[in-house]
Amino acid sequence: PSAQIGVTGLATMGHNLARNLARHGFSVALHNRTQERVDALVAQHGDEGTFVPVSSLEELAAVLERPRRVLVMVKAGPATDAVIDDLAGVLEPGDIVIDGGNAHFADTRRREAALKEKGIRFFGVGVSGGEEGALNGPSIMPGGDREAYQALAPMLEAIAAQVGGTPCCTYIGPDGAGHFVKMVHNGIEYADMQLIAEAYDLLRSALDETPAQLADVFETWNSGDLESFLIEITVRVLRHVDGATGRPFVDVVVDEAEQKGTGLWTVQTALELGVPVSGIAEAVFARGVSSHSGQRERARGLLPGPAGRPHVDDRDAFVEDVRKALYASKLVAYAQGFDMMRSANERYGWDIDRGAVATIWRGGCIIRARFLDRIREAYDRERELPSLLFDAYFTQALVDGQEAWRRVVSLATASGVPVPGFSSALAYYDALRADRLPAALIQGQRDLFGAHTYRRVDRPGSFHAGWSGDGQEEER
Ligand code: NDP
Repeated sequence: PSAQIGVTGLATMGHNLARNLARHGFSVALHNRTQERVDALVAQHGDEGTFVPVSSLEELAAVLERPRRVLVMVKAGPATDAVIDDLAGVLEPGDIVIDGGNAHFADTRRREAALKEKGIRFFGVGVSGGEEGALNGPSIMPGGDREAYQALAPMLEAIAAQVGGTPCCTYIGPDGAGHFVKMVHNGIEYADMQLIAEAYDLLRSALDETPAQLADVFETWNSGDLESFLIEITVRVLRHVDGATGRPFVDVVVDEAEQKGTGLWTVQTALELGVPVSGIAEAVFARGVSSHSGQRERARGLLPGPAGRPHVDDRDAFVEDVRKALYASKLVAYAQGFDMMRSANERYGWDIDRGAVATIWRGGCIIRARFLDRIREAYDRERELPSLLFDAYFTQALVDGQEAWRRVVSLATASGVPVPGFSSALAYYDALRADRLPAALIQGQRDLFGAHTYRRVDRPGSFHAGWSGDGQEEER
């Protein structure tokens, strides 16, 4: 028997991707370190397509059509390195290794370079959509050799989510570009979730309404600009009632948000690239604050806040204000995330097409949303748009929303409801549009204590002021 593609690593993700491939008519060789997973897949789902079970990597290499294609879906980190090393021993030049795990893009760059020396073509592929997406259509972000992509495109594009006949999979760029884009996706996901949570918190603090009633608000929002998977699941979570107590589910869940680390990677990378992703960073920090239960416990009895809850005169007007604040903040967070791709293109010599990224995020992945069509259109209008906020559609949304945004942040601040996402997005917006920033003062401070020099508004050059001595400015 022969197979068109092999999958090694048949835990949740590999298992489901293998089935997805088979259901689309591709013959799939199955391999896993522990044989039980291979046998279980064949026993339970063997009738879904053509599976070729194997029990060693040598056997895997023997049954695959050339050039061989092997999808690695094992635990990220050292396990992935170990499996890739073993694979390299049984593959030949021209063969293609695809890492569909959650690798850091720097690891992908390293692995790609190492395998290239052996003539093996390595792909780092971001897969979003979790267990369900892997089976029924994820969003797929492949990075690697463009020519080798031709050998993968028919498979990856077939198993990806489809939106209006367009697959949620496209070639992203060389080496680590696919995993980079997947990382940015996850960072944006953190920001989006935080912003939705802040909107909920504000509504709940200001209005005397139950989570189920607030679910209705989010449901209404889901029929407009904010329509998205994350708003949809927010409705479900808010409506959910705890079976044991009959209380709203959100009220019985410990309010400490956990994280697996891709938000951290996004922010670390953004810091290195010098791209301000304050919305994503605040979202990561907000999860951190929530988890510091000891400090929160002590602060509760110690640190004062304003008396009473936020006061709202007109309920419906307030709800609309929060909706606009949420949308404006979301625009900023997405603009910041897409800005990381612009910067990575410069740093790594990639050519990530941001409009194409918006297109493949419209289905399969966690941040899938109607809004991504607006982003795609923005990049259609201007491929190298320096910031999404400059596109006419987004500018208009900010014109329409900025007063509401300010009212919401003011009310939250005055009444002690934490809105780090809303307020940092607004601060970014105001900083970007400011005539003058106090960065001039910082330059003065730097020059005074460290002779770091400054530039002048009225003539070119670098200068150092005469802080001591004769007081004369000198050109450096
Ligand atoms: P896990 O991350 O839990 O990994 C388990 C798999 O890795 C098993 O097949 C296991 O084999 C294999 N494995 C672990 N160590 C080794 C090793 N040293 N040598 C060989 N095989 C090893 O599986 P998931 O399916 O959850 O995820 C797979 C990848 O996909 C990960 O990188 C994950 O981060 C990523 N991912 C996961 C998503 C999700 O929602 N779960 C979403 C998107 C990506 P054995 O059966 O023998 O133990």
